[in-house]
Amino acid sequence: MTFFSRRLGLVAAAALLVPLGLAACSSDSDTASSSSSGPAANAPACPTTPVNVVVSVDQWGDIVSELGGKCADVKTIVASSSVDPHDYEPSPADGAAFTDAQMVVVNGADYDVWASKLAAASAPDAPVVNAAQVTGTADGANPHLWYSPTAVTKVADAVTEGLSKISPDAQAYFATQRSTFTDSLSEYNDLIAKIKAGASGKTFAATEGVFDYMAQAVRLVDKTPAGFAAAAANESDPSPADLAAFIKTLSDRQVDVLIYNTQTEGSTPEQIRAAAESAGVPVVEVTETVPPGQNSFESWQVDQLTSLAKALGVQS
Ligand SMILES: [Zn+2]
Repeated sequence: MTFFSRRLGLVAAAALLVPLGLAACSSDSDTASSSSSGPAANAPACPTTPVNVVVSVDQWGDIVSELGGKCADVKTIVASSSVDPHDYEPSPADGAAFTDAQMVVVNGADYDVWASKLAAASAPDAPVVNAAQVTGTADGANPHLWYSPTAVTKVADAVTEGLSKISPDAQAYFATQRSTFTDSLSEYNDLIAKIKAGASGKTFAATEGVFDYMAQAVRLVDKTPAGFAAAAANESDPSPADLAAFIKTLSDRQVDVLIYNTQTEGSTPEQIRAAAESAGVPVVEVTETVPPGQNSFESWQVDQLTSLAKALGVQS
């Protein structure tokens, strides 16, 4: 808990005048929720018994809920944007949540090791869909795989395949849900294609690497000073020289946009944002987790991509 003193949901907490220390705490009511709204709520009725699925984090939980529809009871462990998944410490109740799991979905790549451990201990027979394994991403690589359009497709395919194996009677149902999910990604895919066509080769710098896979997908060039990016990836404090290099990159207008994770706090990102604003570099806000007010993965991503398109002068 060093770099930026990562504390998600700070803006909301501060707005309510909650003492800042509370924002870092989590309680059971913050976490472990089932999806009751969003696209999954509109899914057709299930012809058979739903599959119990446990998902580590809500970035994937939303997607799994849509793919499972009413044929999956999805429990997401870290479902609140006031909890930082990087620092998450599971409670005993979280362990219990895994006991009935018939399938488990985790991110992998060192992001949610606790979930793989709980799954192995509490639901050893449940197949695990691990996004890092599905995409061939090594431990230590950038773990923010839900920002990779390729990873989203591969994980969705693996989830559908896994659900169909567990519940063959619902195979046709899951196939329909899978194609509904593809349809629901059309605006997301259109925006990605438009940004790629209109802004390929433009440059960005980022306060942390959460958005990097998407930036690569739309062919933006990463100009984040290397020392700063390395410190951010290790959750350590950047050196004064790294911070100065970042601020100079912005004040010299060497980048077209600043990608800014709003779920962090501290003087470092604030100084960076101020430098971008005073130099007239557009700031594109992104988040690690699905923020309050978004009821689906797709709407969350589309909002962010729309902001990016606008900042890059791409007609969207
Ligand atoms: Zn992160």
